Amino acid sequence: MTANVILKEVQAFLDQPSQLFIGGQWQDAKSKQTFMIENPATEQSLAVVAKGNADDVDLAVEAAQQAFKSWRYEAPVVRAKLLNKLADLIEQKAEELAQIITLENGKPLLYSRRECLGAINLLRYFAGFATKIEGRTVPVSTAPTANFLNYTLRDPVGVCALIVPWNFPLTMCVGKLAPAMAVGCTTILKPADQTPLIAIRLMQLFEEAGFPKGVVNLVTGSGRDVGEPLSSHMKVNKVTFTGSTDVGKSIAQQATSNMKRVTLELGGKSPNIILPDADIDKAVAGAASAIFYNQGQVCTAGSRLYVHESILDEVLEKLKIAAQSMTITNGLDESSTMGPLVSKRQYETVMRYIERAQEDGAELIVGGQRPEGLEKGYYVQPTIFLDKDEKTCIAKEEIFGPVLTVMPWTDIDDLVERANNSVYGLAAGIWTKDLANAHTIAARLEAGSVWINCYNVVDPVSPFGGYKQSGWGREMSHDVIEAYTETKNVCVNLV
Ligand code: NAD
Repeated sequence: MTANVILKEVQAFLDQPSQLFIGGQWQDAKSKQTFMIENPATEQSLAVVAKGNADDVDLAVEAAQQAFKSWRYEAPVVRAKLLNKLADLIEQKAEELAQIITLENGKPLLYSRRECLGAINLLRYFAGFATKIEGRTVPVSTAPTANFLNYTLRDPVGVCALIVPWNFPLTMCVGKLAPAMAVGCTTILKPADQTPLIAIRLMQLFEEAGFPKGVVNLVTGSGRDVGEPLSSHMKVNKVTFTGSTDVGKSIAQQATSNMKRVTLELGGKSPNIILPDADIDKAVAGAASAIFYNQGQVCTAGSRLYVHESILDEVLEKLKIAAQSMTITNGLDESSTMGPLVSKRQYETVMRYIERAQEDGAELIVGGQRPEGLEKGYYVQPTIFLDKDEKTCIAKEEIFGPVLTVMPWTDIDDLVERANNSVYGLAAGIWTKDLANAHTIAARLEAGSVWINCYNVVDPVSPFGGYKQSGWGREMSHDVIEAYTETKNVCVNLV
């Protein structure tokens, strides 16, 4: 199997030194420091990127503040047109962008191409919102209604810090940038340390689309050097973050410095439930994809699979075949359905969980090793454990890798209680032919997204976010527009 040739545009992009994008200018970090980006499929260095710190954050915030003065009043049709133009550019350059995503993240090209499509859909969806930010007229209740004109406006919240992880490096950026810009906010984007390259290429496309200077700014660097100064900055009005629950908690604390608005999309340990009457082949295909898609590095991954005891053996057998049929290789290879994990650290974390599961007494059904014949790269086999008593660490903790814990159940009330017995509440899946039953179970699950006979159907129209320690607030859909705006009530005495 041979990997695709790297496009010459991609090679040229990788060869140029990557800078920060502040106030419409490409510039080195104030400290002149840089850091190296690694290709997780080969363990070779891929590019050198500017290592920003608090001084660069100050410059970016200043630029975003300046730009906000005019961008907030820009005609909504102009904001919509620019977002649509950016969508067109991503569409034109999708193959190039997909290669960059695969090179720095490791995921198969198939999924990197889907990310490009996801980014295009997000941009077009939120471009439509630019012209639909509306208030309400609300008749006063304590005086003759004709004596007053009372109405609400929605104002953009201001300068927004967008801190994103590495698992969907393009759609995470666009999913936060597009609604913020549609409503008239200005932004400072901080990509994950592992995957800044696609964010840098995205800034070039913002420039090409013609966005005004300072409306979008990029500061690359570590969580401590860039993420913390952004979260605690006195002149940042909102921080929106996707990543681990621990970092989310510290961001929430830092944000109290000036009571900035906060949206958090955090971890998950999502239950995926197979009922005895389910179409077993569809349920197994769905359950395998729910955990193995993106190498399991998905916050909504269906990592706890509850299977009715009467069908356990059949499901396990078919899941094993699904795991063994994956093509694990460099994501640049067209045949790849599973690439490496994003980094050595993530690889070591996942391998440690596999060891701990066995120490805790879980039964290994398939996988658990590094795939044979792949000497370099952070590859892990798709792995399935059976944990009959739900006692192991892998039944509770988020692993963020291709590791599935299967647990049998018999009683529906007990099942719902077990499914909800988690500090997280991001997503859940239900597989059954009895839709009435499915709706009843869906109503009882503590999860921000419930998928019935499908999984990971994430769409711009659907609110996305978590209960409990899976986060604060919702992204996407109408809901996110509220998260990037403040409500102002205006009351006029007419008499
Ligand atoms: P992380 O939470 O450490 O990092 C996510 C982003 O936050 C990155 O841009 C990082 O640089 C930044 N950051 C880190 N520390 C910060 C701080 N103190 N203040 C402000 N910003 C900070 O996630 P990770 O290290 O990339 O992965 C660790 C774990 O996080 C994973 O194993 C997984 O459990 C979880 N994770 C969840 C998601 C998700 O979509 N919910 C995505 C990626 C990772």
